[in-house]
Amino acid sequence: MSSPTSLFPRPPVLFCDFDGTITMNDNIVAVIKHFNPPGWETIAQAIYDDKKSVKQGVGEMFALLPSSMKEEVSNYILTNAGIRDGFAELLAWCKERDVPFFVTSGGIDFFIYPLLEPFGIPADHIYCNGSDFSGDSIRITWPHDCDDECDNRGRCGMCKTTVIRRFPQDRYYRILIGDSVTDFPGAKIVDLVFSRSHLTDKCRELGLPHIPFETFRDVVRHLDLGGLKP
Ligand SMILES: [Mg+2]
Ligand SMILES: [Zn+2]
Repeated sequence: MSSPTSLFPRPPVLFCDFDGTITMNDNIVAVIKHFNPPGWETIAQAIYDDKKSVKQGVGEMFALLPSSMKEEVSNYILTNAGIRDGFAELLAWCKERDVPFFVTSGGIDFFIYPLLEPFGIPADHIYCNGSDFSGDSIRITWPHDCDDECDNRGRCGMCKTTVIRRFPQDRYYRILIGDSVTDFPGAKIVDLVFSRSHLTDKCRELGLPHIPFETFRDVVRHLDLGGLKP
């Protein structure tokens, strides 16, 4: 019997979004909505309409929250974020087959690391933005900014395509798992997308190879079959 990974034309590598993908909801949207600082809705709409970059918009929304709210903000996310079913199974699938699994997230370190802690993902396989609570308001930091090849030049914040491009397409079968705006640029340069929500609409619109999914068990099932069959 051939191993599932041999069903792919090249060794697979997975890039998985966090907010709204690994977790059931977008934690940034949830926390901002909950604490409801004046002005956040205009910023959120501008990001979605692509009138403001994700980087600028996310930075501006967190800047509406005082650093003194660090505990409250963290606790709200850590108690309300639910992990999507089948996530541990997907990680086990990758581990058993030596398939690299990266978290590529536009979310923030102070909630991503604690929420992923139970799953044993190596820290250098988690890409996300940083945070600084030393000033009056929460300041987001961007340790993984766009490289020179990103079409989105400096607008991503955490640049998913920069991470993806480190795994050349002629050597790897690149798979992206995601749900929304921050996944659009990456979806255009991978071999296969597992999509939810807005990302499914975008893939349909652009004719990108994608498989809509609900739980990570759906993803594992398709991976066992070698992804998308023509
Ligand atoms: Mg997302
Ligand atoms: Zn970028």
